[in-house]
Amino acid sequence: MTYDLAVIGGGVHGSTVALFAARGGMKVVLIERGQLCREASGVNAGTLTMQMTRVALIPYALRAHAMWASARDWLGHDVGVVVCDGLSLAFTAQEEELLTFRAGKRREAGAPIELISGAQACAVEPGLSAGVRLAGYCKVDGYANAYLTGLAYRRALLEAGVDLRENVPASGIAREASGFVVETPQGPVRAKRIVLAGGVWIEPMMAWLGIHLPIKTLVNQLVVTERVRPVMRTVVGIANGLLSLKQYPHGTVVIGGGWQGVGDRARGGVELLPDRIIGNVRLACHAIPDLKASRIARAWAGLEAETADALPAAGPIPGIPDAYVCGSVHSGYTSGPYIARLLADRILGREPDLPLFPIDRLLAPRGVSEASQ
Ligand SMILES: Cc1cc2nc3c(=O)[nH]c(=O)nc-3n(C[C@H](O)[C@H](O)[C@H](O)COP(=O)(O)OP(=O)(O)OC[C@H]3O[C@@H](n4cnc5c(N)ncnc54)[C@H](O)[C@@H]3O)c2cc1C
Repeated sequence: MTYDLAVIGGGVHGSTVALFAARGGMKVVLIERGQLCREASGVNAGTLTMQMTRVALIPYALRAHAMWASARDWLGHDVGVVVCDGLSLAFTAQEEELLTFRAGKRREAGAPIELISGAQACAVEPGLSAGVRLAGYCKVDGYANAYLTGLAYRRALLEAGVDLRENVPASGIAREASGFVVETPQGPVRAKRIVLAGGVWIEPMMAWLGIHLPIKTLVNQLVVTERVRPVMRTVVGIANGLLSLKQYPHGTVVIGGGWQGVGDRARGGVELLPDRIIGNVRLACHAIPDLKASRIARAWAGLEAETADALPAAGPIPGIPDAYVCGSVHSGYTSGPYIARLLADRILGREPDLPLFPIDRLLAPRGVSEASQ
């Protein structure tokens, strides 16, 4: 059997492309090495925010936020999305300057962020420290329960008729006259088109096609507290990006901000760095002082992909008709579903509502690329 489309990698990007392509009438197979959304898409902080999103991605993130807010309608299953206010804080004059610049750029791009005083921020978020000088205030914010993502997508994909192959690692791709052959332990899988959606593993996947696309691996650490009484009601960040904080309805508080642990794409996240976790937690307690009374329940690390210019790799693979890549989206949980849906539109032969992010810009001229390997 030859599928219309084979998607390799079942994170939020691959799962969304597969879902919309199947709903658009294609015969789709999704090949996932482990279980759906158990890498970045299942272990992330779940924040759905404009304030940490790259300026160029704001139009995408706004549409993606609307998708998450209506996930029950299009995904059909619950991922625990809560839409609430978001605050990005400045405690120092330097942070005020940074916040004013960042908020201004995002506002120009369409994000409804306004600057408010520390006192106004405390009215929005009563749990906030009195030391806040200025805050970016955005009503388009919120969070999801990332660990529910895979469960929700699995049901939706099966309902859409996707041939879902979990615990099946792809190990290579060959081209043939009618399309592609994906090598798996279950035998070859044939498809007319392919999408590579392997998160930080997009780089080795692209190498199967002889293309060198450098993808940086970030090892983000996260902390979750025990369940505590309500200490906050908004999503809180800080101007320099080193904090993201929210309390879930059942009482736990998830603390992140991209503090790096140890790991790589070959081994995963292998070591947490306690000094950095403490730094992250101290910053959280500085922002929301009542957090000082709560204990850490668990900490973990996950791998986030980033291209050289920190913009997505989402579009056709140059020189290989019917091959596509989708990933490396900064704040990719927020924006991922929308960007992946755009790619599905393109694959279905429809004009995407917003431009994709072709990877030509990220590929070194062939001679240079080969010399640098
Ligand atoms: C700790 C952490 C916190 C984050 N917090 C946020 C946040 O709060 N808000 C936000 O917007 N973004 C956040 N992000 C970023 C976001 O999680 C990612 O951008 C997004 O989930 C990436 O999705 P993806 O589908 O591209 O990759 P992934 O979710 O990593 O999926 C790639 C999939 O490919 C599979 N795969 C790899 N190799 C193979 C193979 N050979 N064969 C088959 N399958 C293969 C993997 O098993 C994996 O399931 C965070 C990331 C991390 C790590």
